[in-house]
Amino acid sequence: MSASLNTLAARAAELRRALERASYEYYVLDRPEISDLEYDRMFRELQELEAQHEELRTLDSPTQRVGAPPQGQLAKHTHLLPMISLGNAFDDDELREWEVRIARQVGADAAGGYSAELKIDGTAVSLTYENGVLVTGATRGNGTIGEIVTANLRTMRDIPLRLADRNPPRIVEIRGECYLPFDAFERLNQERAKAGEPIFANPRNSAAGSLRQLDPAMTAKRPLHFFGFAAAAPADVSLPFSTQHELLDTLERWGFPVESHRVHCASLEDVTKFVHDVEHSLRAQLNFGIDGVVVKVDSLRMQEELGIIGGREPRWAIARKFAPDIAITRLLAIEVNVGRTGALNPFAMLEPVEIGGTTVKLATLHNEELIHEKDLRVGDWVQVKRAGDVIPQILASVPERRDGSEKIWRMPKRCPSCNTPVLKDEEEVAVYCPNVECPGRQLEGLVHFASRGAMDIRGLQYKRIAQLIEAGLVHDMADLYSLTVEQLVSLERFAQKSAEQLVAAIIESKSRPLSRLLNGLGVRHVGEGAAQLLARHFGSLDALMAATEDEVEAVRGIGGIIARSVVEYFSEPNTRKLMERLRKAGLTLTEPKAKTVGRSLAGATVVITGTLPTLSRAAATELVQAHGGNVTSSVSKSTTFVVAGEAAGSKLEKARTLGIEVIDEAGLLRRVEGES
Ligand code: NAD
Repeated sequence: MSASLNTLAARAAELRRALERASYEYYVLDRPEISDLEYDRMFRELQELEAQHEELRTLDSPTQRVGAPPQGQLAKHTHLLPMISLGNAFDDDELREWEVRIARQVGADAAGGYSAELKIDGTAVSLTYENGVLVTGATRGNGTIGEIVTANLRTMRDIPLRLADRNPPRIVEIRGECYLPFDAFERLNQERAKAGEPIFANPRNSAAGSLRQLDPAMTAKRPLHFFGFAAAAPADVSLPFSTQHELLDTLERWGFPVESHRVHCASLEDVTKFVHDVEHSLRAQLNFGIDGVVVKVDSLRMQEELGIIGGREPRWAIARKFAPDIAITRLLAIEVNVGRTGALNPFAMLEPVEIGGTTVKLATLHNEELIHEKDLRVGDWVQVKRAGDVIPQILASVPERRDGSEKIWRMPKRCPSCNTPVLKDEEEVAVYCPNVECPGRQLEGLVHFASRGAMDIRGLQYKRIAQLIEAGLVHDMADLYSLTVEQLVSLERFAQKSAEQLVAAIIESKSRPLSRLLNGLGVRHVGEGAAQLLARHFGSLDALMAATEDEVEAVRGIGGIIARSVVEYFSEPNTRKLMERLRKAGLTLTEPKAKTVGRSLAGATVVITGTLPTLSRAAATELVQAHGGNVTSSVSKSTTFVVAGEAAGSKLEKARTLGIEVIDEAGLLRRVEGES
């Protein structure tokens, strides 16, 4: 080997090692350490080296393989036909070059149009249907062998358990992408950060991680969704379509969600126009991540003729990737916002930077631990990522660009809004301000108080509340009830009519039951569910305020942390004053007794587990309670029976071990009607 070839060989080996490592972190650990952009750049460099010097190509090169080998714990599934990856085109010219390559093989006009689809940034799965019934669901794995995650996939309502076809194919594998919508991803990460668990880097990795859970009950808790985009069958099974766009229509007919923004284009110009529309306009409106548009030759016969390159990428399809939505900018400061329960939430002030057509100035930071874990320092250059409507996130700092002036950040010891010393919960990572009268908490608190799940005061949104606080008319919830139309019309942007409507909506909210008020108060750890349990149990605010910690903890479904928080909250003199004022304002401080429509479950203690076919967990709970039964969360000897749905996990096992009766949703409905 010549000296220069030696250097190139060393570079190729280095790239292979770096790509291997990144793939392992990405596919196996679901925790990428480098950006996709960096990965794609290295991948491209290696591909080019191998193309120029055939002798540098090794059989185990990442350019010759898909994904990463499946891991040990889950059972394996061999795909009917391989699940392949996609080549990339990073701009319009590369897309045109792809068309030229196709034309060389099948003739210039042979393409017969393209199917262009959004490239969903999730994780690929394959669903095997035998005679129309879902029998196996698997991950892509290394493209040939994937991991079986059928029970997990069955928890997803998007995935039909049976094809809607009276004459289904003997066997067919439906391929598609599982993904987590942005809002669900944000919620999941907030919960994880609050609980001190590591947060997911992006929705893709959280979807992949959620799918590969060993306990389906964990998967069921994550609102995963599915889009179908391909189907495969053995040669002797004929499928009812001959083009990609017909395939997508058929999937939809069979009951799969298929992404709606797909187009069937006659020419590549039309495809390019679609790509630009998606990148610059549609993308920002979606509630799920996409990282490009997949362009496919529409005719399936021609797809077959074009075939696959090196067992990895089809010749007949390509991913037209978007410009990266990552930018590098300066972290100017870390500031702290006080939430309604007093939690101090750090966020980043950035030197304004343009990402994907929007100027970004702020990024979330979740909590102090995370800032130190990522070693972010004030003054650092940082990588910022924006995905759709999600609040931008800082991926990492760029330590090579430090000049020594950067400062390590610490959470303030006092509340930035009211200067009260902050507290830290032992069980939690969050730091919070304990002062219920803290002005920082007031705004967020009032927004929550007026929200739909709480007092539902129509027309009282964030901006209005900020305006009322600024005008000095409102400091806390009780102040709302003394607002007058005259006061409101004196403010900017308040017409007589809207002032009257707001006052009427505030008055109307006095009739909300105690559970809504309890939720609206913003007691730490007390959300809608706990508020309902407490209100139903105690029946009145007075009874709840008089309760001891033990008495609160004795309520079914209420644990020690909630009980402590409730008792602490009501023992505060400020809280007591606030309650008195709410009472004087004429609020309903009682809860109607739970509606009992029947007694067929009187005295029964019921556990509900898994996903029921039609009833949500809340609806099933209500049904049991309405018929005199009690619902508890764990199975014990005193459980009367367990209602188990799809993907029921450890509770079902425990019930079986203890010999407790297990019924399904239909069984529950029969019992409620008193039939058995
Ligand atoms: P890919 O994600 O770039 O493209 C192939 C996949 O696209 C398919 O398997 C399919 O799941 C998906 N897809 C979504 N919508 C589709 C549609 N409508 N039609 C067809 N397919 C659709 O390829 P890959 O092999 O899964 O992953 C490679 C990419 O993963 C790299 O380009 C890189 O961006 C990223 N990666 C990143 C790291 C890292 O460390 N950051 C490591 C490995 C891989």
